[in-house]
Amino acid sequence: MEADQMRALGYRAVDALVDRWRTLPDTQPWTGATRAELERDAFFLADAPEAPSDPMAVMELALSRVLPVAARVDHPDFLAYIPSAPTWPSVMGDLLATGFNIFQGTWQGGAAPARIELQVLDWFNQWMGLPASASGVFTSGGSAANALAVVVARDRALAQAGATEHRPRLLMYLSDQGHTSLIRGAHVAGIPSSDIRILPTGPDYRLDPETVRAAVEADLADDPTAAPFLLAGNAAATNTGIVDPLDGLGAVARSLGLHFHVDAAYGGFGVLDPRGAGALDGIGGADTVTLDPHKWLFQPFECGCLLARDPASLHRSFSMAGAAYLHDTDLGQPHVNFGERGIQLTRSFRALKVWMSIQTYGLGTFRQAIGQGIDLAEVAEARLEASPFLEVLTPATMGIVTWRIRPAAVGGAHHVEAAHGALQAHLTETGRAFLSSTVLREGHALRFCFLNPGASEARLTEILAVVEDFVGRWHPGQAE
Ligand SMILES: *Cc1c(COP(=O)(O)O)cnc(C)c1O
Repeated sequence: MEADQMRALGYRAVDALVDRWRTLPDTQPWTGATRAELERDAFFLADAPEAPSDPMAVMELALSRVLPVAARVDHPDFLAYIPSAPTWPSVMGDLLATGFNIFQGTWQGGAAPARIELQVLDWFNQWMGLPASASGVFTSGGSAANALAVVVARDRALAQAGATEHRPRLLMYLSDQGHTSLIRGAHVAGIPSSDIRILPTGPDYRLDPETVRAAVEADLADDPTAAPFLLAGNAAATNTGIVDPLDGLGAVARSLGLHFHVDAAYGGFGVLDPRGAGALDGIGGADTVTLDPHKWLFQPFECGCLLARDPASLHRSFSMAGAAYLHDTDLGQPHVNFGERGIQLTRSFRALKVWMSIQTYGLGTFRQAIGQGIDLAEVAEARLEASPFLEVLTPATMGIVTWRIRPAAVGGAHHVEAAHGALQAHLTETGRAFLSSTVLREGHALRFCFLNPGASEARLTEILAVVEDFVGRWHPGQAE
C-alpha cells in the first residue's frame, strides 16, 4: 500500500474513533441485533471476494454496518455485567503494539517490550502487596488467568505427591459466589466437577474460613488419600462486589497446605482506593492473583493478568524447553520468555497500553476514577433505599449494588422477575441505560456496576426517574 493511502486510512480511522468517543454519552448503550435480523441482510452472508476493493470503502462499511451494531460497553449508562471504559492512551497503545507487531512470546522477540511487561507486573505486585520477588504474565483476560492458576496449583500438588503409581484425587474449593471461569479452568486442568467443592457462603455472601476448614477435614476423613490442593477466594464477586475475608482464607489455606488463589479479576485494582484497600486486606498473602486491567484499570479488551508469588511455578508448568525450534530463544536467566509463563507462545504486547495510560495520567487519576465508582454505588444504594418502589439486596461495595423492585409494588414476589425483564427491555429500547440481572438468595436481582468514570449522579438520577415511572405504571401481565 502506498504511504499516502496508509495515512489516509489511518487518519480516517482516528477521526471516526474520536467522533465516536466525543458523542458516546449522547448515543445508546446497546444497539445490537439478533442473528436472524442480521442474516436477513445479504451483507452478512457474502462469500470472500476474489477481487480487491477500495480500502476506504471497506473501512466505511466496517464503520457504518458492523461496529455500531453492538453494545457500547464504555457508555456511561452501560451499568451491566462489568463495564469497561478504556483510556484513549491505552487505545493508542494497542494500536502501536499491533502496528509494530511485537512478538511478546520471547525476550528475543520483544526485548524492551518484555522489560516493560516485567515493570508493569512489578507495579501490580507492589499495589497488591505481594513480595518484590513475585511476577506474572499478561493474559487475554481473567478466565485465562484463572485457568493458569489452577494448572500451577495442580502441578505443585502433583509434584508434592511425588512419583506414586496413583495420581491423588485433587480437590479444589471455592464459594458459591466464585466465578464460573474457575470451574472451567479446573476442567481444563483435568479436575472434574466431582472434585470441585462449591462451599456455601454466609448471609453476607462471604466465605467463612471455618467453612473451608470443616470441608477439607470432612473430605480427608472421608478419603485420607485425597489431596485438597486449591482454595480460591473472591475479590470481588461478580454478582455483588463482595470480597471474601482474604486474610482469614489465606491463613486457613496455609495451615491446610492449600494453594491460595485470589480471583480479583474485576476488583483487584480497588486497592488503589483506601476503601477498596480495606476490603482487599490480605490479598498480598495469595499464592496467585487474577487481575483484569480491561475492567477496573480502564484498558481495552483484551487485558488480563496472573500474578504469582513464585514466578518459577509458572515456568515449571509452561516451559517449552523441549522444543528444538525454540532453542535459539533460550537466552538463559535472567531473561524471561513470557511464552513460558502461560499457554500462549505468540502473544501481543498488552503491557504497553497499561504503561502508556498510567504514564499519561499518573496513578492519582486512576485512584480518583476508582474511588468515584465506589462513591457512586454508595449514592445509588441510598437512592434505592429511599424509593417506595425499589429495595437494596446487597449493599454498595466495590462499585456494585444489587437491588430489586419491591414485590409489593408489582403484585407479589412471583411477578418480580417478569417486571425486571420488562424494565430492562424498556431501558434498553429507550436507550436510557443497559442493566443486567442475576439471581441471589433473595431471588431475581438487578445490578448497577459503576466502574465507568463517565457515570455520574446526574445520569443515575435520570435513570432512576425512568425506573420509578416504569414501575409505578407496571402491572402483572404487561410483559406478555
Ligand atoms: C470478569 C471476571 C472473570 C473473567 O474474566 P474475563 O476477562 O471475562 O475472562 C473472572 N472472575 C471474575 C471475578 C470476574 O469478574
